[in-house]
Amino acid sequence: MQKIIAANWKMYKTRKEAADCAAALVAGLGNVLPQRRQILVFAPFTAIAETSRAFAGVAGLEVGAQNFYPAREGAFTGEISSQMLHDVGADWLLVGHSERRHILHEDLGIVADKCAFALAEGFKLMLCVGETLAEREAGELGSVLERQLSSALAALSEEQRRTLPGRFAVAYEPVWAIGTGKVAGPAEVLDAHARVRSQLEGLLGADAAHIPLLYGGSVKPENAATLIGLDNVDGLLVGGASLEAQSFLQIISAGA
Ligand code: PEP
Repeated sequence: MQKIIAANWKMYKTRKEAADCAAALVAGLGNVLPQRRQILVFAPFTAIAETSRAFAGVAGLEVGAQNFYPAREGAFTGEISSQMLHDVGADWLLVGHSERRHILHEDLGIVADKCAFALAEGFKLMLCVGETLAEREAGELGSVLERQLSSALAALSEEQRRTLPGRFAVAYEPVWAIGTGKVAGPAEVLDAHARVRSQLEGLLGADAAHIPLLYGGSVKPENAATLIGLDNVDGLLVGGASLEAQSFLQIISAGA
């Protein structure tokens, strides 16, 4: 499986900063990209068009949005629909990121609605799952992952489930490792990814083998090669270290 290296630019970058960073990525990719890596950038809404323009015509580079409202259009003041995001060049939608679950209070029902809607609208979907430190310490890792995965897929039609390979990825992101500098150790990543894979097998059968599993949480150029080399790690989701093109390029080429 081609490894996916995804950037989450969170609420950073003006349009010019995004365009400059995206252009630096294109220029710096050189020989690293072909065949071995697929690059995604989850840009802030206002910079999606610029990022998409900078990536136009370059194979293996795609743009996503970090959020959307699961309706085509309507009286939802302040919200952005997936079609509006398609219009500015987004191919992927990120759902269930811990900052949206924990800071913006998105519950399992909202995450499930968004997953079903994103797929119905023809997007590729990246679902984030992961436990808090308190949940891990209480021995709840398995039950948290099970709850987040099964509820997210619960609203999908049979047809949507069948067509997940190729347009669905799961990012395991322990909440305690996001933006904290604490990276999960190899044993923790192996354990969590094996659990996610086996839960996906229970939910999707043989198709689970074709769903990329990404690790996210304080990925840096220094630890990227180790993480990407682990069993069941099909990619990385990178926040802070993706904001600088040079550091993201080092992560992209790590282990390639
Ligand atoms: C993220 O935002 O998904 C993330 C993993 O952030 P960071 O790399 O900064 O921990």
